[in-house]
Amino acid sequence: MIGSKEPSGPPESFRRAEIVAGLARVRTRLVEAAEAADRDPRSITLIAVTKTFAAVDAATLVSLGVRELGENRDQEARPKAAEVARLRPDDEVRWHFVGQLQRNKARSVARYAHWVHTVDRPAVADALARSVENLDRDPLPVLIQLSLDGNPARGGVAAGGLAALADHVAGLPGVRLLGLMAVAPLGQDPDRAFAALAGRSAELRRSHPDAEVISAGMSADLEAAIRHGATHVRVGSALLGRRSPDLG
Ligand SMILES: *Cc1c(COP(=O)(O)O)cnc(C)c1O
Repeated sequence: MIGSKEPSGPPESFRRAEIVAGLARVRTRLVEAAEAADRDPRSITLIAVTKTFAAVDAATLVSLGVRELGENRDQEARPKAAEVARLRPDDEVRWHFVGQLQRNKARSVARYAHWVHTVDRPAVADALARSVENLDRDPLPVLIQLSLDGNPARGGVAAGGLAALADHVAGLPGVRLLGLMAVAPLGQDPDRAFAALAGRSAELRRSHPDAEVISAGMSADLEAAIRHGATHVRVGSALLGRRSPDLG
């Protein structure tokens, strides 16, 4: 019927335009924050956190040049990684697992994850290392998640346990310790939190010089993280829009 059609193009092209705009905004923020901190923007890697968003959104980001994608739940990440590989067969994507990890999920995560950011206890590191050896894959790059608020519910090892956990992880053949990850405590000044993280990272590198990665900064606080040396920022909603509040 004439006149009953939406005056606009198909919804896929709207969504793509939204993602193009989100990515441009985030890239601009990243570059400006790096320049303000006298850092080379190319030394900072953007990880697009696609949790709760469709595989097709992740594939759109990949088509726009994003190669690092993050997820926080195994049951969502596993099929999404497979679907993105089907949609973008010629693009090499690296999946970052950034959620709290249970020992019994280690084997599944080790199949598709290229990095795990959330090792916070020896049992998880052991389970990942064992899975890697069973799968006969290259050692899995891992980060230790450091708790900046001492609240164990949000994951992360307390600062007092970091050195011992790092020594443990570094001694496992199946994993490779690349550095630290943290989430700024809710309701606190992110600059203070990320300054503390930078201090712990410097300490860690005295005994583990290769552990140079600092994974910190999300949509709300990536500038603060970059000021304090983040090498990897994990950004979701600023790229893809709001998630429903009870998810992720
Ligand atoms: C969801 C999530 C992010 C991204 O958060 P946004 O606020 O959407 O940018 C980053 N890191 C972790 C660990 C997450 O769970």
